[in-house]
Amino acid sequence: MKRILTGDRPTGKLHLGHYVGSLANRVRLQDEYNCFFIIADLHMLTTKPSKDDVLNIAVNAREMILDYLACGVDPSKSTIYLQSAVHEVYEMNLIFEMLVTVPRLQRLPSLKDMAKSANLSEMPLGLLGYPVLQAADILMPRANLVPVGKDNEAHVELTREIARRFNSMYGEVFPIPDVMIGDVPTLVGTDGNAKMSKSLNNAIYLSDDTKTVIKKVNGMYTDPNRIRADIPGKVEGNPVFIYHDVFNSNKAEVEDLKERYRTGSVGDVEVKQKLSAAINGFLDPIRERRTEFENKSGFVDEVIYDGTIVMREEARQTLTAMKKAMGLTGVWNSISRKAEKARKKRG
Ligand code: ATP
Ligand code: MG
Repeated sequence: MKRILTGDRPTGKLHLGHYVGSLANRVRLQDEYNCFFIIADLHMLTTKPSKDDVLNIAVNAREMILDYLACGVDPSKSTIYLQSAVHEVYEMNLIFEMLVTVPRLQRLPSLKDMAKSANLSEMPLGLLGYPVLQAADILMPRANLVPVGKDNEAHVELTREIARRFNSMYGEVFPIPDVMIGDVPTLVGTDGNAKMSKSLNNAIYLSDDTKTVIKKVNGMYTDPNRIRADIPGKVEGNPVFIYHDVFNSNKAEVEDLKERYRTGSVGDVEVKQKLSAAINGFLDPIRERRTEFENKSGFVDEVIYDGTIVMREEARQTLTAMKKAMGLTGVWNSISRKAEKARKKRG
């Protein structure tokens, strides 16, 4: 069976952007692929390294996994694990660092964006190495497919380069993984910003209640030129209609609203009311399942624990294969053999 690796940083609850960018694909593919989902807490440290951030990891990881389960990720089919508890990743990361140049990493726009949104005036070495660590995550279970949002596409490309480089230098250890971008490559924020993101405060969370969704939708950015309901409005690129397209399953209703919006015969209020109803309809079964899992005390911790144990064995095997292919195992073997022999001889 082919393998998937993907995941999220445990920075809080997941939002609609995470769902359409990656989570939906995970749920859809979990029967066809052997899935590994990472709680990327070491990646979180690249921009949030404080003690307080570390102390929040466990709570955030639990919330995040509740979101997975609520969306339909089946823990009996997939391996969900905590990155920092699998020590081989630190070693793989270091080996991969030798196969990438600094300018190659500096050219990635995603890292500059991350530094900026974290208010970092200078690039930490760890953040520059973010995609290298990601390559270690992806290649650890020797994944064939990586379902992620658009912002991660270039990182998977770098993983492919690292895998090729390793294989050509030392021998075939890794498959070359493909990227899979979600149906919506990047979901816009409620404020019209290109990306829905926790840090931008423009997100609708999978765990938001009905009232919160209504409030957020009512405050959404739409066509700014449309100050009255009888002014023809712009549908294309309008976040409200982007969300309608994604979350409203009543296509006839969406087409009718678009038509009336274009001709100036519908108010924003109606468009937004129908949108919050659609999003709430989409979220209702997710909320229901979330509550079910929340009530199963300790279940989420068991899921992460069991997954991490499975991943540790995977990691051990991959790192062993890497070191063997590189000849590193041989170096130590040769030295220890000679040392033992010398000891024996001396008596
Ligand atoms: P946030 O900025 O809200 O913290 P993030 O980018 O930090 O989100 P990550 O944990 O880095 O989230 O990424 C988790 C996955 O979700 C990645 O595959 C990422 O591409 C995807 N993703 C995050 N936000 C969006 C979005 N607005 N649209 C589509 N995919 C997204
Ligand atoms: Mg995040």
